[in-house]
Amino acid sequence: PVRVRFAPSPTGPLHIGGLRTALYNYLFARANQGTFVLRIEDTDQKRYVPGAEDYITDALAWSGFSPDEGPKAGGKYGPYRQSERRELYASHVQYLLNEGKAYYAFDTEDELDNRRDSEKEAGNHNFRYDASTRGGMRNSLSLTPDEVKLLLESKSPYVVRFRIDAGETVTFQDVVRNEVTFQTDEIGDQVLLKADGLPTYHLANVVDDHLMKISHVIRGEEWLPSTALHVLLYRASGWEMPVFVHLPLLLNPNGKGKLSKRKGADLGFPVFPLRWNDAAKRETFDGFRETGFLPEAMVNFIAFLGWNPGTEEEIFSLEELAEAFTLERINNSGARFDIDKAKWYNQQYLMAAPNSKLAPLVQTEFAQAGREIPLEKATAIAGLLKERVHLIPEFYTQGTYFVEPVTDYEEKTIRKKWKPELRQKFDMLADHLNQSSYWTAKHIKQDVVDFMGANELGFGQVLPIIRVAISGTVQGPDAFGMLEVVGQEESVRRLRAGYD
Ligand code: GLU
Repeated sequence: PVRVRFAPSPTGPLHIGGLRTALYNYLFARANQGTFVLRIEDTDQKRYVPGAEDYITDALAWSGFSPDEGPKAGGKYGPYRQSERRELYASHVQYLLNEGKAYYAFDTEDELDNRRDSEKEAGNHNFRYDASTRGGMRNSLSLTPDEVKLLLESKSPYVVRFRIDAGETVTFQDVVRNEVTFQTDEIGDQVLLKADGLPTYHLANVVDDHLMKISHVIRGEEWLPSTALHVLLYRASGWEMPVFVHLPLLLNPNGKGKLSKRKGADLGFPVFPLRWNDAAKRETFDGFRETGFLPEAMVNFIAFLGWNPGTEEEIFSLEELAEAFTLERINNSGARFDIDKAKWYNQQYLMAAPNSKLAPLVQTEFAQAGREIPLEKATAIAGLLKERVHLIPEFYTQGTYFVEPVTDYEEKTIRKKWKPELRQKFDMLADHLNQSSYWTAKHIKQDVVDFMGANELGFGQVLPIIRVAISGTVQGPDAFGMLEVVGQEESVRRLRAGYD
């Protein structure tokens, strides 16, 4: 059975790249009747940031794909926080020690520094603790068993290192990268268990992927170099390897360099799904949610950052993505983060959304600007503007005239369309509309058409002026719908007031 995991470290907010990793794992699970696991990799206590785990959970929930198993969802392979699994790592380390695949290293920081310095003097600037250098160090491969016993009994601090033999070529398959080859000489004897008794990322990650029966490891490309070590760990442990899938990098909008939150902040676009308060740096970053994206649009957008369905089709719901998703269609080149594309997606989803779904969001935008509007009005505004906005706050910024009188008229239009002799006509129109007993777009239109007929005026003469009088601009939604939402009394007032 397919079991995949998203394994973030709670060291800060979930970056949009991390969310993409989570999404691909989720889609692959759904596409294969599999299970999507959330595992919190919190063994690096120095980098732990309070609130980060909740942020991850909230971001997944808002995005619409929460895990099947995880710290909050539960499951039979728990606990799902690595800090709660120490004994499992310790016992596996014991196994590797017994098998001679790992060894104790008692070298202090000072000793390691001294060695590094003397290597430097000898012209070697990259001292590595490995098969060629471990001989001269204080570890259980070079000390006698009695010395080791004594050090352990006297509770000398130690780490456990992985014993990597030199001179071997190892190959593994990656679904995106195909065959990957590395030399064991390129890898040092990595630490598996730290002096504080906690496992390193490598050990915990491999042990958990095995114990949690993970079938496919889908993660960012930055982990590809670590995979070499993981492969050796699987082998030393006698475990079957999962299938590896390394996702292409997300690149900055100009296509250069890894997408960064700095870049996002500087260029004014979000790189996080939700708002993040960086308490340590006293900085706040708005997310996709606060910027005014619908989660469905964000998900559709990030699904295409590194994957494509092989057709021209671009609009996919989460369910449709799950149906279309295959690992084979993951790209192997970096994906440029294009915020305009994200906005285009949002526009598509806003346009397609029922007014009733958008209405509460519209209400919130107006309320945040200090304008409470009834749901009915919010629904009407949603209907009129949804084809014209890219981001949710634009319902207010483009629709302020629905709740506030116009003070700025578009001069160009007035110069072209307005003639003082029209004043009398527009006063008549205002009177005429003031008499209307039905204030709906349809009736208003009929009234205006009747008025034009009686006064020998055409649409081209009348409509731009109505528009500018009501909203300040000729750019806008259906004029009659606009009049309906602005309301009879206020519309009549604006028609009388215009341009003077
Ligand atoms: N804890 C790692 C991270 O923060 C997990 C990498 C992996 O998926 O193996 O991304």
